[in-house]
Amino acid sequence: MLQAVDWFDDGSVFVVDLALACCALESQAAIGSRQGVPVADVPPDARVVLTFSGTLTAPMEPALRAAVASLPREPVVVAFGACAIAGGPYWDSYSVSKGVGDLIHVDHFIAGCPPPPRAFAEVVEAVRHG
Ligand code: SF4
Repeated sequence: MLQAVDWFDDGSVFVVDLALACCALESQAAIGSRQGVPVADVPPDARVVLTFSGTLTAPMEPALRAAVASLPREPVVVAFGACAIAGGPYWDSYSVSKGVGDLIHVDHFIAGCPPPPRAFAEVVEAVRHG
């Protein structure tokens, strides 16, 4: 079941991290000990940040589209790391997407292989104040 993390513990911003590959170790480091709730429990007035952490492959695309469709509102989308941005080291593999931008509009790109967890946290903080 898709989980959403109440980032500031005040119901203002919920983070849904789609952990696709090794970048997820970094996004999970940013999330730390925060506990998730089912996305159905996200309040209707909360902001939702959807993060793609890792390598997107063609066979995964239907599941990811379904995950996006299950969100309670339109998310702020983050491509976290080189793979999510443009395929990373696997860009020329037949099965690897050239970035989640092929799947969904991306609002924030966080570069790196791996990208820094702190940059992830800064984007979430910017969403709260944006
Ligand atoms: S960008 Fe690097 S660390 Fe992140 S999923 Fe791709 S290979 Fe792994």
